[in-house]
Amino acid sequence: MKKLLINCCRLVLALVFILSGFVKAVDPLGTQYKIEDYLEAMHLGGVLPEMVVLALSVGQSALEFCLGIFMLFAIRRRLTSKLVLLVMLLMTPITLWLAMTNPISDCGCFGDAVVLTNWQTFWKNVALLLMAVVVTWRPLEQFRFVSRSNQWIVINYSVLFILAVSLWSLYDLPQLDFRPYHVGANIKEGMAMPEGAEQPQFETTFILEKDGVQREFTLDDYPDSTWTFVDARTVQLSEGYVPPIHDFSIVQQEEGEDGIEQYDLTDEVLADTSYTFLLVSPYLEKADDSRFDLINELYEYSLDHGYSFYCLTSSSDEGQQEWRNMTGAEYPICLTDPITLKTVIRSNPGMVLLKDGRVIGKWSHNNLPVIEQEEATLPLEQLEIGHLPNDSVPGKILRLLLWFVLPLALLTIADRLWMWTSWLHRKKKNENTITLTTLNNKKTMRKKIVAGNWKMNMNLQDGIALAKELNETLKADKPNCGVVICTPFIHLASIAQFLDQDIIGLGAENCADKEKGAYTGEVSAEMVKSTGAQYVILGHSERREYYKETPEILKEKVLLAQKNDLKVIFCIGESLEEREAGKQNEVVKAELEGSVFNLSEEDFRKIVIAYEPIWAIGTGKTATAEQAEEIHAYIRSIIAEKYGEAVADDTTILYGGSCKASNAPELFAKPDIDGGLIGGASLKAADFKGIIDAWK
Ligand code: PEP
Repeated sequence: MKKLLINCCRLVLALVFILSGFVKAVDPLGTQYKIEDYLEAMHLGGVLPEMVVLALSVGQSALEFCLGIFMLFAIRRRLTSKLVLLVMLLMTPITLWLAMTNPISDCGCFGDAVVLTNWQTFWKNVALLLMAVVVTWRPLEQFRFVSRSNQWIVINYSVLFILAVSLWSLYDLPQLDFRPYHVGANIKEGMAMPEGAEQPQFETTFILEKDGVQREFTLDDYPDSTWTFVDARTVQLSEGYVPPIHDFSIVQQEEGEDGIEQYDLTDEVLADTSYTFLLVSPYLEKADDSRFDLINELYEYSLDHGYSFYCLTSSSDEGQQEWRNMTGAEYPICLTDPITLKTVIRSNPGMVLLKDGRVIGKWSHNNLPVIEQEEATLPLEQLEIGHLPNDSVPGKILRLLLWFVLPLALLTIADRLWMWTSWLHRKKKNENTITLTTLNNKKTMRKKIVAGNWKMNMNLQDGIALAKELNETLKADKPNCGVVICTPFIHLASIAQFLDQDIIGLGAENCADKEKGAYTGEVSAEMVKSTGAQYVILGHSERREYYKETPEILKEKVLLAQKNDLKVIFCIGESLEEREAGKQNEVVKAELEGSVFNLSEEDFRKIVIAYEPIWAIGTGKTATAEQAEEIHAYIRSIIAEKYGEAVADDTTILYGGSCKASNAPELFAKPDIDGGLIGGASLKAADFKGIIDAWK
C-alpha cells in the first residue's frame, strides 16, 4: 500500500510538472508577461530587464518540465523529490497570497491552456505539496522505467527537447496556441454575449472632500465642483458573463477640421467578408524592423487586390512616425490596447490575416509569408496562405508526441528488454557454469572469501590465542580462498604483529564516520589502518539497529575507509518482517543505493558485499541455499544495472547468517555466492576451518 501510494503521488506530480512546464515552454513570451505581472504585483515591476525575465521564463519552464520527466522516470530519486518539494514549498505560500489579495486574476500555472481561479490554484498546490512530502519521505520506493546506465539519455534528451520547444516558439510562434485568437478562431464569435447573459456589474464610489469633511458619492449623486476629488473605489457587484474576447478594438486617428478625430473600425474590419491583413505590434519602438521589406510587399499585394491592411499598435504618434521613417510604411496605423495585441500574437511585429472575422493565418516576423512574383497576380483564395492551414491541433500534438514521447518510449522498452536479456544471459551462464565446471574453477573471476566477525567476543589474550591457532592451522593447510578475521579494535595491533597476512587478512568490525577530532570513544579509519589491518566491516545489521547507523552515516564511513585504503566488507540484508512482506529485494537495493552506489566504478570494485538476512544472524536459522542464491543473483543484477556486467561479474558477494561447516558447501556451491561472513562459527578455529574447507 505504501509503495502504491508513493508511486501514485509520484506519477501525479510528474504529470502536473510536465504539463505545467510544457505549456509554459510552448509560450515563452506569455510566461514572460506572467512573470512581469507577478513582479508588478510585488511592486518590483521594471526591476529586471525584459531579456532577464524572458530567460527566467525559459528556465522556469525547462526546470518544471525536466523535474516532471525525472520524477516520471525515477531519475536521481532523492534529489528530484527534494527539488519538487522545494518548488511546492515556495509556490504554495505565493499562491495563498495570490488567492487572498487577488492582484492577478489568473496565476498562469498552466499558461493559457488550463485557467484556474486563484483559490483553485492554491488548493491544487496544497494537494501537490502533500504528495511531494509523501514522495520525499521514501524516494527510493519509486520504481524505475529506465536503468541507471541509460538515464543520461533521458536527461539530455529532455533538456534539449524542452529548450528546443522554447526557442522554436520564440523564433516562430507558440506551437500550440490556447488563446482566443488562435488560427481558426472567429473574433466576432469570441466577442459575442450569449443570449440572456448579463455583463458583470460594477459600482464605483467616489470620495470627495469639502470644508475638511469627506463623503462618499456614486455616479448618481455626484456633487458639484465645490467638492474636491480624493479617491475612487470600484466594486464588482455581480459576476456576469465575460466573453473570451472582451477588449478587441481598432481605432483609427485622423486629422479632422476640429483636430485629431477617432473612428472605431472594429466592426468594419470584423464584418469584412474579404481578407484583412493586420500587422500587430504592441510597441513599434521595440518592434523588429529587419523584415520591413516583406511587410511592405504584403501591403502592396493587398493594395493590388483590394484587401484591407492595418497596422495595430499602442505606440504614440512619435513611435508611429519613427516606424514610418525607418521602414517606409505607408499603410494606416491604428490604435489597440497593448495587452490585447500581446495576446493576439506573440511576436513584435506579427502578421494576422482575417477573413470575415476569422483568423486565417498568423506569422511571426521571422516567418512572414512570401508571395512569389508569379503568385503576385493571384488573389488570396488561390494561394495557400489564404486558407486555414491543414495542421490541426491533434496533428500538432501527435507530431510533438512523435518527437518526444515515442523516442523515450522506445528507449524504455529497449532498456527493459536489455535488462531482461542480460538477466537471462547471466542466469544461463551461471547454470552452464554449474553443470560444466567444478566448484573450484567456477566463479574464477571473483575472489572467494571466508571472513570471520568476532563481534564483541574474546578478551585480548583469548583473541590472540585464537588468531595464533588459526594462523598456524592455515599455514600448515593452505586455504583455497581468501580468509579474513575481523576483530574488536583492541586486538588489531597485537594480532597484526604475528598474523601472516598473505594467508589471513585482518580487519576491524567498524570505524568512525569522522576523520578525527573530539569524538570520544570513536576509532577512525586511519587508526584502524595504522594497526596493520586491511579490512573493515561496515553496515552490519547490529550496528544499523543498535547504534542507529543510517545509510548517510555509512556512506561517510565507506568513503573514509576507502580514503585510508581499507577494503570494505559492506553488509546488507532484510529483517524477518521485511522478508515476510516480500520486500527483501527493495531493502537490499535501497541499502546499496544509500551507501555505496555513489562510488565510482573503480572504488566500487574494491567493495565486498555481504548479504546477511537479519533473521538468520545468530538465530540458527539459515536461509536455504536457493533463497540465498536468488537474492545474491538479484544483488548482482542491480550492480550490473548500475556499473555494468563486468563489474557485477567481478564483485564478491558473501552470505552471512548461521553459516556453519555443515551448510557451507551447499551455500558456496551456488553460482552467485562467493563465500561467507561468519559470526558465531568464527570463534573456534576448528569450526572456522571447517567452513574455509568448503572451498576445497
Ligand atoms: C554475522 O553477524 O555477521 C553473522 C553472520 O553471524 P552468525 O554467523 O553468528 O549468524
